[in-house]
Order: sequence, then structure tokens, then C-alpha cells
Amino acid sequence: MTGTLARSRPHLGGVVPPTLQTLPAAVAENLAIVRRRTRARVMAVVKADGYGHGARAVAHAAVEAGADWLGTTDVAEASALRAAGLTVPILTWLHPSGVDAETAAVDRIDVAVGSVDELEAWLPDACRSVRVHLNMDTGMAREGCPPPEWEALIARAQQAQRQGRIRVVGLMGHLPSADRARPEANEAAVVQLRRAGRALTAAGFGAPLTHLAATSGTLTDPATHFGMVRVGAGLVGIDPSGTTDLHGASRLTAPIVHRTTAGPGTPVGYDGAFVTTRPTNLGVLPLGYADGIPREIASAASVEIRGRRYPVVGRVSMDQIVIDTGADAFPLGTTATVFGPRGGAAPTVHDWARWAGTIPHTVVTGIGPRVRRTVA
Ligand SMILES: *Cc1c(COP(=O)(O)O)cnc(C)c1O
Repeated sequence: MTGTLARSRPHLGGVVPPTLQTLPAAVAENLAIVRRRTRARVMAVVKADGYGHGARAVAHAAVEAGADWLGTTDVAEASALRAAGLTVPILTWLHPSGVDAETAAVDRIDVAVGSVDELEAWLPDACRSVRVHLNMDTGMAREGCPPPEWEALIARAQQAQRQGRIRVVGLMGHLPSADRARPEANEAAVVQLRRAGRALTAAGFGAPLTHLAATSGTLTDPATHFGMVRVGAGLVGIDPSGTTDLHGASRLTAPIVHRTTAGPGTPVGYDGAFVTTRPTNLGVLPLGYADGIPREIASAASVEIRGRRYPVVGRVSMDQIVIDTGADAFPLGTTATVFGPRGGAAPTVHDWARWAGTIPHTVVTGIGPRVRRTVA
């Protein structure tokens, strides 16, 4: 599968524009690694456009590799996946633009509800049989329902189910230490979710599909797996627990669009934050902070050209960065790899995150709309 965009645009003068290429084979390998860690069902979380990798591409790759469910933030994203031909169950949990209950019912999109007022607002009397997961707060004070309000939510859900407005099919929580391998820190959340499960069963909801763990819990703590795990970062090669070697699922490249030679003592970029110390070749890559290159990178950042690393020098501009290729003078249009999968000569998203003092998630989700997307 090659991105159609790639073929519809000519590469003027042989220049391939900045491109983020998604690697579905890596997504499939990551899903297989996750599968080996759990007997629970696996939800592939593809919110934020599949962590910047293209929700449809990641969803198709994950489902073909055996993911049982898909997860997104809202119903519109889920509907787009239905339109793309994905038929597995889909759960949405935050609803930035409210819930289109009609679409949720028609497209069989499950909706997580974290409070009585959400239940009333999103799933009014007129709606018909939307599948609901009760979203219980398990220690984050974020989108879940706080324990003192569980009883009221469960009672209201019972009533709505009797009216035929909803069908409670799931129970979810979220682990506060999603970014660390600390099973002991998960215990309280596990106990909380079990307690919520007992309350649902006592209220006549049977044994709903229960889910708590994201990537880190999935990879490090089987006690958190319950009936399903929800894996997003792990699919695209990010293991927040740092315990597995997952496969980076994208490659960001950019062409050299301007080149110069510079003598020693030449200031480069804004404020002359870098000054050359020798005669050298400089190349400009048309990617800047507007495209997701973190402006915070320290002096260590580099890109790869033909198997070698070359440093990024000077400040990151809005639209461009400058690389110092030393004695190597590359022709215009030469492709540089900004990041790629682990194991090659190119940096990884983990390297960029380290250089910028952030997490890899912000690097991959930050790649801007000017960057062309293709699928390998
Ligand atoms: C984003 C998200 C996930 C996936 O988390 P990862 O750490 O990226 O695997 C799971 N559950 C919920 C509710 C989320 O918002």
C-alpha cells in the first residue's frame, strides 16, 4: 500500500517533500508483542490520528494483526473508522464535541460515560440503545466518575437501561502511573475497579467487559489486564515503561532544499546561537517547529543522510532547520531522515524526545499538517 498522495503530487526537480511514512508492519509486530504479554482482549487506541501516524493506517494494521477493539476520543473519529471499513467494536471516551447518540447507535460505537450529567447530556431520553461503558475514576481525578458518585451513576444507568436508552456493556478505569513500570502503584486502582465491578453486578448489569491498563500496565503488570487492555503508544513503538523493545512505526524524512558552504566563524540561524569553527557545508531542511521539530532541542540533535549522522545546528526556526554536513557536500534534494525505527543509523523518536526533554508521545503527535503522509 502506497499513500495516494505520494503519486498525485509530482516531485519537482526530483525533490521528495517532507514526508511522514507510517510503517504498518511495525504496528503488526508491536501488536504481536502485546499479544504475547496478555490473554485479555486488545483494544488498539488510535486517538490523535493514531498518535500522529494516521488513525486509519494504524487501525487497519492493528486489526489485521488481531486487535479485537479500537478506541478513540470521540464519536466522529470512530465514525471515520467505520467509514474506512473497520467493523470491530469501537469505544470512545471523552467527547470533545458532545455525543451524537444517533450516530453512536447506528454505527455501533460504544460510549464511555463518567458522570450522571454526562449520561443525561449525551444520551437523552430520545436516544435509542447506545452501548455504554461506565468510566470510573481509579485515582486520577480526570475523566472518570469519582467513587462517592458511583452509586448515583449506577442507579441512573439502571434507569436509562430500563428505558431502553442505553445498554451497559463495559466498565473502565485508567491507571495513574500509566507511564511507569510500578505494579505496586497500580494496586489501589485494581482494587477500586474490582469494587466498581461488584457494584455493577449487584445492580444487575451482569459481568461487563472490564478494562484498566494502557501500554505500560499491559507490558508490566498482568494484574491490571482484566478482560481487555487498551494499547495506543505501544502500537506505534513507544513503551512508556521502558521494558520492551518495540518497533518505531514511522519515518520522517525531508530534503535538503538549500545548501551553502561557510567559512569558520559563521553564525547560523537566529541569534547566532551556533557559530561554525571550520570551513563546512550547511544544508537547510524545510521542517521547523511548525512541523513538530521541538524548538527545545539542545545541541545534541542530529539527522541521518546515507547512513551517517549530521548535527542540527543553531535554533530551530518555524519552517526550517540547518544541518552541518562537514566535508560532505550533498546535492539539492538529498533526503535526510529525521527519525526512523530503532536499529538503523537514523535517530528514533526516543532520541528526539530526549534531546527536547519531553516524551516520545509529544514528538509523534506534534508532526504538523504540512508534512505529507504516506503508508509503506
Ligand atoms: C490514551 C489512552 C489509552 C492508551 O494509552 P497508551 O499509554 O498510549 O497505551 C488508554 N486508555 C485511555 C482512556 C486513554 O486515554
